[in-house]
Amino acid sequence: MSEKHCSFCGRPESSVKMLISGLDGYICDDCAMQAYEITKAEFENHQHDDKGFANLNDLKKPKDIFEYLNQYVIGQDEAKKTLSVAVYNHYKRLLQQDSGDDVEIEKSNVIMIGETGTGKTLMARTIAKMLDVPFAIVDATVLTQAGYVGEDVETILTRLLQAADYDVKKAERGIVFIDEIDKIARKGDNPSITRDVSGEGVQQALLKLLEGTVVNVPPQGGRKHPNQEFIKVNTQNILFIAGGAFAGIDKIISKRINMKPLGYQAQKEEHIDEENILRYAIPTDLRKYGLIPEIIGRLPVLTYLNSLDKTTLKRILTEPKNALIKQYKKLFEMDGIQLVIKDEALDYIVDKSIEYKLGARGLRSLVEATLKDDMFNLPGTKRKKLVVDKKYVEEKLSQNLLTKISKAS
Ligand code: ADP
Repeated sequence: MSEKHCSFCGRPESSVKMLISGLDGYICDDCAMQAYEITKAEFENHQHDDKGFANLNDLKKPKDIFEYLNQYVIGQDEAKKTLSVAVYNHYKRLLQQDSGDDVEIEKSNVIMIGETGTGKTLMARTIAKMLDVPFAIVDATVLTQAGYVGEDVETILTRLLQAADYDVKKAERGIVFIDEIDKIARKGDNPSITRDVSGEGVQQALLKLLEGTVVNVPPQGGRKHPNQEFIKVNTQNILFIAGGAFAGIDKIISKRINMKPLGYQAQKEEHIDEENILRYAIPTDLRKYGLIPEIIGRLPVLTYLNSLDKTTLKRILTEPKNALIKQYKKLFEMDGIQLVIKDEALDYIVDKSIEYKLGARGLRSLVEATLKDDMFNLPGTKRKKLVVDKKYVEEKLSQNLLTKISKAS
């Protein structure tokens, strides 16, 4: 019988490692591998052409995004709404780029102002989770302009690449959250050396990233050096969300509001919400605070977060999809123990969080300190139920936590 041959390259069975038979012929290992590579490349290209979604109908609508955020973020409706629209517009912009239309939609990078621990990072992270895109958080305070000690702005993209498992195309559709953007504000009008290291110089360096450009990114981060191979990343379709507490900006806003022409104020008779003065912020206030106009221009969507009051903090404990109390209930449940936390106990925890100025971030340590002893003692015993009331929290917190931290002044 004559020798079998690969139907693709014609080589005989004796000169290949493996010959796979089909209905009507054979394929050798080499040709099978090549076919695999070709199909893989083709599928990837196709996927990237589509940007993960083909048309407007595939996009989540702003209301859907808002609803999704609602599952994880309590309150902050204005920021949620603004962000939902910005994200929707961002992805519409990606669709429009392919349409050949000559109206160019500009990027809708976002800047959020609000006290620390009010949900800025949570919101950005939740959006990225919903969209299933790579997400990176960077702290603006570690960034410096090239030539100074610290991290170059390019390392922002290193983080994003890492989050995308070095899939460049994926990273190029990701979301970057730049935290503490207020910390790189220009410090006063006096030129000084420190000003350039920590302020304006970094803002300048950030500009090109925000506006959309191809950046040489060091794959492992760190300083650029000549022998290192760079990965080219185009930032044009990356959504940047910046956040900062902007401590003291309330005074700038108040001053501006109070300086409105008298006639205007009298005419409008507006009631000024002094508790949430950030809601009146406009780009000029950021400029006064020390952000350069070009940066503000590249972060055109401005929104604010309210400080968290008692009711909101209490809701944060129990309502989000992965609320702290739900998590602890689950932990106990896994040991067959029902955890019941009385309402008065929740109130007490929230009161202490406010009294010690721990905010939402502190809720976790308060609950942890309350339940630590039981999480140690109860597993393996016959206990089926643990009821936590105010007195119990009081006792546990004074034993385990509050004596160690000092009260807010
Ligand atoms: P920020 O970025 O504003 O400093 P974070 O988003 O990091 O604050 O919030 C810290 C933590 O506090 C979050 O991980 C979350 O557990 C909780 N938290 C803060 N604000 C909210 C909120 N509005 N809804 C639900 N949880 C919140």
